[in-house]
Amino acid sequence: MLLDGNITEDFRTLIERRGVMAEFSLTLSEDQIQIQKWVHEFAENVVRPAAHEWDEREETPWPIIEEAAKIGLYSFDFIANAFADKSGLLMALVSEEMAWGDAGIGLSIFGTILAVTGIFANGTPEQIGEWIPQCFGTVESPKVAAFAVTEPDAGSDVSSLRTRAVYDEKSDTWTLNGTKTWITNGGISDIHVVVASVDPELGSRGQASFVVPPNTPGLSQGQKFKKMGIRASHTAEVILEDVKIPGSCLLGGKEKLDERLARVREGKKASSQAAMATFEASRPVVGAQAVGIARAAYEYSLQYAKERRQFGRAIIENQAIAFKLADMATRIDASRLLVYRAAWMAANRVPFNSGEGSMSKVFAGETAVHVTEEAIQILGGYGYVREYPVERWHRDAKIYTIFEGTSEIQRLIISRAISGIHIK
Ligand SMILES: Cc1cc2nc3c(=O)[nH]c(=O)nc-3n(C[C@H](O)[C@H](O)[C@H](O)COP(=O)(O)OP(=O)(O)OC[C@H]3O[C@@H](n4cnc5c(N)ncnc54)[C@H](O)[C@@H]3O)c2cc1C
Repeated sequence: MLLDGNITEDFRTLIERRGVMAEFSLTLSEDQIQIQKWVHEFAENVVRPAAHEWDEREETPWPIIEEAAKIGLYSFDFIANAFADKSGLLMALVSEEMAWGDAGIGLSIFGTILAVTGIFANGTPEQIGEWIPQCFGTVESPKVAAFAVTEPDAGSDVSSLRTRAVYDEKSDTWTLNGTKTWITNGGISDIHVVVASVDPELGSRGQASFVVPPNTPGLSQGQKFKKMGIRASHTAEVILEDVKIPGSCLLGGKEKLDERLARVREGKKASSQAAMATFEASRPVVGAQAVGIARAAYEYSLQYAKERRQFGRAIIENQAIAFKLADMATRIDASRLLVYRAAWMAANRVPFNSGEGSMSKVFAGETAVHVTEEAIQILGGYGYVREYPVERWHRDAKIYTIFEGTSEIQRLIISRAISGIHIK
């Protein structure tokens, strides 16, 4: 098995393997089926029974994260193996099952993955080996991690970040100053991956990603937000006041950054900027979470429609209800197929020339909103009250049209990709 020895070596193998393309196939391997089953059991027996409680408490469900760590589900090894899956499908399968259990708790457990993806997409093999395991902590004392891009005045427009990173050559130290907002696990994480501007004149191409190590002075949590949905997931501001970190915390290293900035200043093409590289890779995984919520609501309302009787017959015997369910099933399948294709492309480094990553995210996110709303309709009054899970699924689903790029921004990416025109 990969990752049973030297972490840096293992990641090197992983990075090398990225050059070998896997065939696209929808037939899951025996391994994938086993892992899917294992995660489903955890989602069914541990996550779902706790979903209502943690939604009401609006707190990070540490006991559940600890349970996930104990069985190895929340662990560096497991996530690294999932990332190493050449088909790209494993992370999508796992994400769908967890969100099927509960999206808020799922995000509390797997929100860390965004920071992991940020390190993996931008870091050197040494940085990957050093920081990614620390994102998870240990089985006895699991930790979470955060990926901080968004700011009060820079949401969709990532190019206008104001958080500044200034380098002091003498001490080989970076100093970070700024405010990040809406950060999942912000302020409660051991590792914060922060995207900051090193050269504001260059916009998004003058940005870089930094690891802020545990307990670094100057990093603190600001306001914690009370949200509509995914309430078990912690979302807060992160304040950076003269945060000093060593040069080695710049992901990718100074030499690579200087080369990139020089190319940009000369007007040459440079590789995609820090935040975008992370979001590109994570979109299918986020889409898979939306599929999980939609599937939960669909399964529940299908069962309900068979049991609930009005006018002397099951409500599913009315086409008005049965056709809703037919459409829900169709849209969920279509979403999953888009997610699988994008996940395979991302894992095999096939460029998203037609915005395939965005297609998977926008379609799955909007499907989750639509399907959960239809599920409420099928349950009638029972769909609208908190004794039943369906209204929670609808509240949870809505975030999937907002975070990691709103639906409008996904459409912008797709329309630019298919037209070659810089649509505004
Ligand atoms: C619960 C939650 C968790 C989050 N977690 C994280 C996290 O961990 N890390 C992180 O960095 N960020 C995180 N975010 C931030 C999230 O990614 C942003 O909220 C999102 O990108 C939108 O930015 P905004 O809220 O500033 O909206 P704005 O960018 O102000 O957009 C407002 C509206 O205008 C539309 N719009 C904007 N520009 C255009 C355009 N050019 N064309 C058409 N329409 C446009 C948008 O689509 C939207 O409908 C999180 C947000 C939430 C709510």
